Amino acid sequence: SSAGNCNKIPGPTRQGVGRIIAVGSGKGGVGKSTVSALLAVALNRAGYRVGVLDADVTGPSIPKLLGIDRAPYVENDKIQMPATASGIEVLSVNLLLKDDGAPVVWRGPLISGTIKQFWEDGAWGGLDFAVVDLPPGTADAPLTVMQSIQVDGILAVTMPQSLSTMIVQKQINLGKMMNVPLLGLVENMSYAVCPHCGERWDLFGSSHREEIEKLFSLKTLARIPVDQKLAELGDAGRLEEYENEELMQALTAATVGVKA
Ligand code: ADP
Repeated sequence: SSAGNCNKIPGPTRQGVGRIIAVGSGKGGVGKSTVSALLAVALNRAGYRVGVLDADVTGPSIPKLLGIDRAPYVENDKIQMPATASGIEVLSVNLLLKDDGAPVVWRGPLISGTIKQFWEDGAWGGLDFAVVDLPPGTADAPLTVMQSIQVDGILAVTMPQSLSTMIVQKQINLGKMMNVPLLGLVENMSYAVCPHCGERWDLFGSSHREEIEKLFSLKTLARIPVDQKLAELGDAGRLEEYENEELMQALTAATVGVKA
């Protein structure tokens, strides 16, 4: 029979989730996990039921940022996920580690297997949105995500100085690899605001955003300032309390219209 009839390799699935948004970055440390968590907060505040899949298996930060430490448990053959105070559900390998400081030193297949199992066995059904915090870069794990999860759109997190042609090209390639539309860029640490006079300060120099947007026909969907409050709330596991209405609206607007 033809390859099309082969059902040994199942395609990516939705698990009954309305829309699936992945958050990626060309490199680490740009605030990808922070943006993933903030997107979940924004959608939750807008009234949607949201779950976060922490697919950054070797650097799992979502539980810390959202202040969850309860372990998932199995009921009705599904992994039931713990939720934040406002009801954001989270599945992360960090929730399964006895010592959450323990390094996750796993080889590729185990990491891939974990992501796959979290997706296929998690109780995702009925959620309006799943936010997938991708591992940084464009290697093995993002590909696993593509093979198991039917992602509807990718948000690419950058910083002003990483808005180089090279990094943006990586982001575009990530979308292509995953065969998923790149919704646009979220620029993190775009500027700072002086606590004394309120003036905006481009501490990383002016970004090349507009050139890049033209060159690649990409949009910058949201800009996030360097914000002490954001760092503090993240450290305290209270990102849910972050107040920045403009940002929340931008993140919601960037994702609610995405086609499933
Ligand atoms: P990544 O997932 O890309 O590795 P994280 O989201 O974990 O990055 O962020 C790295 C660190 O930077 C965290 O401690 C986070 O609190 C902090 N951070 C991220 N974005 C901001 C921001 N806009 N203002 C202040 N601190 C930030």
